[in-house]
Amino acid sequence: MYGTGLAKGLLLTLRHFVESYVDDIRYGFRKYHHSTDNFAIRQGTKTKGVITVQYPDEKVAVPERFRFVPFLIVEDEDHPTRAGKDWCTSCGICAKVCPPQCIWIVRGNDPNTGRPVPEPEAFFIDIDICMNCGYCAEYCPFDAIKMDHDYELASYDRTSHHIHDKERLSKPNSYWRSIAPTRAYEEMLVRGTWEHKDAAKEARRGAASAQSRAPQPAAQPAVATPVASEAIDEAEASAAPAPAAEGARPWTEDEAKREERRRKALERKARRAAKRGQ
Ligand code: SF4
Ligand code: SF4
Repeated sequence: MYGTGLAKGLLLTLRHFVESYVDDIRYGFRKYHHSTDNFAIRQGTKTKGVITVQYPDEKVAVPERFRFVPFLIVEDEDHPTRAGKDWCTSCGICAKVCPPQCIWIVRGNDPNTGRPVPEPEAFFIDIDICMNCGYCAEYCPFDAIKMDHDYELASYDRTSHHIHDKERLSKPNSYWRSIAPTRAYEEMLVRGTWEHKDAAKEARRGAASAQSRAPQPAAQPAVATPVASEAIDEAEASAAPAPAAEGARPWTEDEAKREERRRKALERKARRAAKRGQ
């Protein structure tokens, strides 16, 4: 019969309209209260009725794996040894893999020696060209560049505002851990520490030199003195403060083995050089 489909469509619209108010009454308007998770319930798939998000007053929470433009991780301001320091070593891998080539990096130089240092002097990303693919974050060997959740970047001046410089790109490590706690934790497991790789290495070197400097009792050569133990504990604690990583610390042994291999390689090299000199 003509008009049946039209009537069905109108009835559906009417049903959604009525359900919107029924749902409001069922929740007693609690779901509009922002201090609870009622807003999330209201945005959930089980909510009936036609619900409009009152953007920008209301925003739908983005999932953890959501990615928008990249940002650079810097150390937290309250970090004991590296406050505000870049995680980026200006290796340039992200700029190389970026498909639309929208990353520019200027490597830093030591002002006294003029030699390159592993930190960027300048870092730019043209976010109008960036296609949010996330390759830069995937390929960075230092976990120094991540994809942000901040999608409100509209402005009236594309030219200057949409080329993000290092200052604009830099955000503290704690920010990354707050927007992507699961990923940050997974990365920590792979990296072996909550710290930047270099910070963890420095801490281990400090612990090793403290151990070698500490006097060793002749009768117990394998046991470190209390002073050395304290130094090691202190350094290791600063290298891996994460409660989740406590107890496991798989990186300690790996790094020790690596150091041992390195030492042996250096000894072999020295022996070869000595032979050549004979
Ligand atoms: S962000 Fe990562 S990949 Fe890019 S230059 Fe810095 S350390 Fe290298
Ligand atoms: S997200 Fe993709 S396009 Fe954007 S800067 Fe990173 S690699 Fe380049």
